[in-house]
Amino acid sequence: MAKGTIFIDTERCKGCTLCALNCPQRVIVMAADQLNRKGYRPAQLIDPEARCTGCAVCALVCPDVCITVYREARPCKEAIHEPRAS
Ligand code: SF4
Ligand code: SF4
Repeated sequence: MAKGTIFIDTERCKGCTLCALNCPQRVIVMAADQLNRKGYRPAQLIDPEARCTGCAVCALVCPDVCITVYREARPCKEAIHEPRAS
């Protein structure tokens, strides 16, 4: 399965919880002990077992475009050229 991670712009987050509710891996939680400058509890990635797949659901549902998704690059099969035997 693909590996991924996310960056959350916590200062722009309005704490709506949509990302946490929709993450299939359940690796986003709302901060329990932190408020941003707007006074909201921002979303946080808590993923000690590296379960994030980079599926981007969280970024798609975020109404304030606070989440950037990074996914592990994999080589494309068509781009791999085996050396020809001569
Ligand atoms: S990219 Fe997918 S798995 Fe990773 S935190 Fe977002 S919704 Fe969850
Ligand atoms: S969906 Fe966006 S605004 Fe809502 S809690 Fe998640 S990061 Fe914050």
